[in-house]
Amino acid sequence: NRKFHPDDSVIDLGGGVTVGGSKLAVIAGPCSVESEEQIVGVARAVQAAGAVALRGGAYKPRTSPYAFQGMGSRGIELLREAREATGLPIVTELMSADQIPLFEACVDVIQVGARNMQNFDLLKKLGKVNKPILLKRGLSSTIEEWIMSAEYILAGGNPNVILCERGIRTFETYTRNTLDLSAVLAAKQMTHLPVVVDPSHACGKAWMVERMSLAAVAAGADGLLIEVHNDPKNALCDGAQSITPDQFKDLMGKIRSVAACV
Ligand code: PEP
Ligand code: MN
Repeated sequence: NRKFHPDDSVIDLGGGVTVGGSKLAVIAGPCSVESEEQIVGVARAVQAAGAVALRGGAYKPRTSPYAFQGMGSRGIELLREAREATGLPIVTELMSADQIPLFEACVDVIQVGARNMQNFDLLKKLGKVNKPILLKRGLSSTIEEWIMSAEYILAGGNPNVILCERGIRTFETYTRNTLDLSAVLAAKQMTHLPVVVDPSHACGKAWMVERMSLAAVAAGADGLLIEVHNDPKNALCDGAQSITPDQFKDLMGKIRSVAACV
């Protein structure tokens, strides 16, 4: 609450990287870790373009039990190799409390996915963890509910929470979700926490990612979380919304121009 904490929180991701404050932080990488070549290659490419952290899922919350579920602990190992190769902090999703020791030991930022945003028992446990938490907004959660979920983590003693607007479910089906940019302004007004925007899951369409990213920056987001894949057509998860490293490089140039104006 800004009443008790008027200044913006600046969250340290490790490796000298921060989210919040005046500098825009772009986190990028594939939906899922698929191989060493893929994750290290994408990590190098997004770093060269200006990303400050690498994302990649090892444990995936898939709608169908028959869909690719992620590489699991091997995926975490490969993310560590990518960190080793580039120095980029790694951001990856934790799905259940029994993964906490592994994540505490191996990752830099723990992502709580939209589907776990109101897993209160998990949030309480993450309040005791000494790692930044990237908390996605739930599929159909109000801004108030999202902030109360962050409050669970803060109340447990972990002050390092980054909010992530990733689109909400509405009556619209053309896009995967509906990006709620007003939530960025609301959350930044109501809290001191940094807010990042994930245009990839919000739109579900790669061709929309660039414009929605620029709009998010114009709206005052502290950062972006963007899915980048070396071969989107053959991605094991979320290929339709993934941009290529070349597209990401172009996008970063435009993001810098918009960021300079806001
Ligand atoms: C993801 O980031 O790949 C993901 C599954 O996101 P969300 O929880 O927002 O659906
Ligand atoms: Mn994804």
